[in-house]
Amino acid sequence: MFHSTNYKTENVDFKTAILRGQALDKGLYMLNNIPKLEQKDIFSFKELNLSDIGYNVLSKIIGNSIPSKDLKNIINDGLNFDVPIDFISKNDYICYLDKGPTCSFKDFGARILARIMQYFLKKLDSNIIILTATSGDTGGAVAQAFYEMDRIKVVVLYPKEEISNLQRKQMTTLGKNINAIGIKGKFDDCQKYVKKAFADKDLNNLNLSSANSINFGRLLPQTLYYFWSYSRIIEDMNEEVIFSVPSGNFGNLMGGLIAKKMGLPVRKFISAVNENDEFPNFLKTSQYKKVEPSKNCISNAMNVGHPSNLARLIDLFNGQIDEQGIIIKQPDIDLIRKEIISYSINDELTKSTIKTFYKKYYKILEPHGAVGWAALEIYRKEYYNDLKYKSITFETADPAKFPNEIIELINIYPKVPKSLDTIQNKKEFTNPIEIENFNDFKNYLKNYF
Ligand SMILES: *Cc1c(COP(=O)(O)O)cnc(C)c1O
Repeated sequence: MFHSTNYKTENVDFKTAILRGQALDKGLYMLNNIPKLEQKDIFSFKELNLSDIGYNVLSKIIGNSIPSKDLKNIINDGLNFDVPIDFISKNDYICYLDKGPTCSFKDFGARILARIMQYFLKKLDSNIIILTATSGDTGGAVAQAFYEMDRIKVVVLYPKEEISNLQRKQMTTLGKNINAIGIKGKFDDCQKYVKKAFADKDLNNLNLSSANSINFGRLLPQTLYYFWSYSRIIEDMNEEVIFSVPSGNFGNLMGGLIAKKMGLPVRKFISAVNENDEFPNFLKTSQYKKVEPSKNCISNAMNVGHPSNLARLIDLFNGQIDEQGIIIKQPDIDLIRKEIISYSINDELTKSTIKTFYKKYYKILEPHGAVGWAALEIYRKEYYNDLKYKSITFETADPAKFPNEIIELINIYPKVPKSLDTIQNKKEFTNPIEIENFNDFKNYLKNYF
């Protein structure tokens, strides 16, 4: 069962949490109890492939909400791409989460969520409209994951001025059940409109839902690459590893925190953020203050001044924060500090990390992965005693999504994966209307759906 992080509405089952996306009191759905796996089972993942690890972990969390045969199909079909792990040096590894169809780690969450939703909608003989706000990568992953799915229409809002051409084209070249709209504003505005639409009584009849990481279904599959990457590099049972996690809305990190609660031996999570430093400041001062407006950094999918999943993180540590970012109950902050350390990496350091990483290892990092690697390097310098623990840094996008930055920094044009290449020359569908405020958005939804 799931509760809302605002605690003002009743508990719901998995199906309801997935189809609603956000709780009725504007909180996020969170598991009441996180099930535990046995250490010997986690250790035995060494012998399993990604799909089988996925089935073991997900069936433990969702029980019999989806029969095993159907769940296996969902996982096999959803995770039909590689998740390679590369040894870099000493005890440090990089796990590449960018091999899905949109070359971003968001393919994990979006593809599994789409298939789970489709499964439940068929059972219920029902239809849904997905609203999604994107700072760059979510929109593309969601658009591709839900493309041509029966019973589901998708509306994606993105900040016109803040995303790359390729990121835009991943959403605007599809058509059919996918509607992508660029707004004048920031990602935070997109997110605000989407949240407001869910709470608006005039839109109740539309059966709206979310594929943002406010939907628990997005987090569920994001636990898997923690178990997977861990199982590929460890030698001993109970061996602890360090994860460096590029973080924006904190869905990526939440996947790891849930995996740890399930028993995954984690020495430390490094939450690597860009210049949007509300979280490291919170850990330092115990006072939470969002960054408003959010700062534009080259790791643009992490330009988030008030991460929505903070509500879940704080809930997990026995606190409460509302959707405005006001702390209702202070969490166990010493415990958070014990499990998570957070560094803010500015654009200058992000860029110099891409340069030095290339010089040292002849491998290309893109801006988000570079933020993760830079944070790991700081941790390695500050925590000498932890040098004996292995680390995994997640590379969350393909460098070809940021060709200008990469050329400028290392004078190499990153190789474009096939899935991106085919999009370059496709025709884009344009905005049906201009959206400048919430009312415009509301009218659009009322008139077009
Ligand atoms: C979304 C995203 C992140 C951050 O993930 P969150 O779940 O928002 O913390 C990091 N890198 C890339 C490339 C992304 O698209």
